[in-house]
Amino acid sequence: MAGMHVLTCFYSKEQAAKPVLQMHTQQPMSQEERMAALTDHYTAILSLLGEDPQREGLVKTPQRVARAWAELTRGYGEDPVAILRSALFDEQYHNMVVVRGIEFYSLCEHHLLPFFGHVHVAYIPDGHITGLSKIARIVNTFSHRLQVQERMTQQIALCMQEALAPRGVMVLVEARHLCMQMRGVAKQDAETATMHYTGAFADPALRAETMAAFRAESKKEE
Ligand SMILES: [Zn+2]
Repeated sequence: MAGMHVLTCFYSKEQAAKPVLQMHTQQPMSQEERMAALTDHYTAILSLLGEDPQREGLVKTPQRVARAWAELTRGYGEDPVAILRSALFDEQYHNMVVVRGIEFYSLCEHHLLPFFGHVHVAYIPDGHITGLSKIARIVNTFSHRLQVQERMTQQIALCMQEALAPRGVMVLVEARHLCMQMRGVAKQDAETATMHYTGAFADPALRAETMAAFRAESKKEE
């Protein structure tokens, strides 16, 4: 946790109205055309970096990278609200539900380098709960897009709020960014924490209790 800085996003009606959950449209292209075009571009990039794309170790690299990036950005084609609602149950449970330590790997949109860590989610149901594995699935959906950590945190919280209409949601994301660690910025072991909450979690006492529940898991892992 050395050098951790915390960025807090506050919930507002204006933020909720923003189309943060909208899918981005792809150019109308078949999957084959798209992979072929990506492969051509990665070949050009290798040349521009001073490499010989025809040497043995690199011959199939552009194709492999194209496939890898299609996989790493597959979240654009998924609807996270629909994922949560695919396992929606009526349940008169009004205590907090906590899902801690969901591992994620995402890509920073500024450098196209990985950032990765853990997502912790808490919510207080109001008549509806979702399957616990669905929460991990929406983390995958949002992390498999080009992201900034702050926005990913907010999107997970707002998606939960939209799909389940709970009394409140709190999301904490703790991550390391390779764009910081590999590029020789001074704080190489820094971890960044971002938080977003809605509804009942405006109460500082509830947030402190939730934070303790999130941290209980971090300690166990160490
Ligand atoms: Zn970056």
